[in-house]
Amino acid sequence: KNTMKCTRCKGEATIRMPSHNLRLCTDCFEFYFKRQVEKALKKFNMINLESRIGLGVSGGKDSLALWQALTEMGIETRAFHLDLGLEDFSVASANACLAMAEQLGRPVEIVKVKEYVGLNIIDVVRGSHRQFCSVCGTIKRHVMNRYVRDNNLNVVCSGHNLDDEASRLLGNLIYQRNDYIKRTWPVLPETEGILPKKIKPLIRLDNYEIKTYARIKKLPYLKDDCPRSRGATLHYYGSALHQLEDNMPGIKRNLYFGYLKTNGGPSEDTPENRCEICGFPTRMKICSACGLISKAKDRLNEK
Ligand code: SF4
Ligand code: ZN
Repeated sequence: KNTMKCTRCKGEATIRMPSHNLRLCTDCFEFYFKRQVEKALKKFNMINLESRIGLGVSGGKDSLALWQALTEMGIETRAFHLDLGLEDFSVASANACLAMAEQLGRPVEIVKVKEYVGLNIIDVVRGSHRQFCSVCGTIKRHVMNRYVRDNNLNVVCSGHNLDDEASRLLGNLIYQRNDYIKRTWPVLPETEGILPKKIKPLIRLDNYEIKTYARIKKLPYLKDDCPRSRGATLHYYGSALHQLEDNMPGIKRNLYFGYLKTNGGPSEDTPENRCEICGFPTRMKICSACGLISKAKDRLNEK
């Protein structure tokens, strides 16, 4: 039988990484993985000694892999999980986070959206005339920002990876949605005292690499996607990129990092105005989250 040799240690390699022209054994792969996280943190100045870092964990492979890697690297984070109240899926997600917390020997705080908002997301969606995911995303962001403000954190990490960001970029480039394109930047700056800096330390790693890491580290992640996910279009861009990558290893990285190289940085376009209810930036009198929530409450009270 033909064995592959590890590019780094010359031991037996089990992991093929054509986009980097590497073959690695599991130990060297772990080293490689953490190196990529470290490089992202450095290159984009994601954190410093003053950072009080929150880590939102969903229970999926990306956020759990990030939690594992940062912990091993000695980077203190405060892990929290937003319980969206979406029946079985939310129960399973919270359980994955709790299992991971136990495995790591670290705490995770389960933050119930209902306790923050007074309503379940399902009640907010009802009669809002908006798509489930659009409402869910707005409320999720709002609760996360409030949690972070209440806990005096100034940085939040998310598990967005290279595949997420490259597919999003591709879609946004096709339709020239420039405002959205700016949000695919690996770091979004802090709005002093109001909104945390948002960072994406997994930006140099793709789905395959993260799955491989999760398998090696035996991470208890939830494999199911949210049953309400309507990510169909993003999925098409993802598979298109996957197909290109198969034939032209490295093309995803070229697309994403090539774009970053030629496009300066994220532009700050945080509105000056503050929501009368929650105090977060908005272009209107009341932000869209508070608008959705108060409309849903009015509707329930009418009944
Ligand atoms: Fe919410 Fe949609 Fe994400 Fe499910 S897929 S968690 S409904 S935004
Ligand atoms: Zn508000």
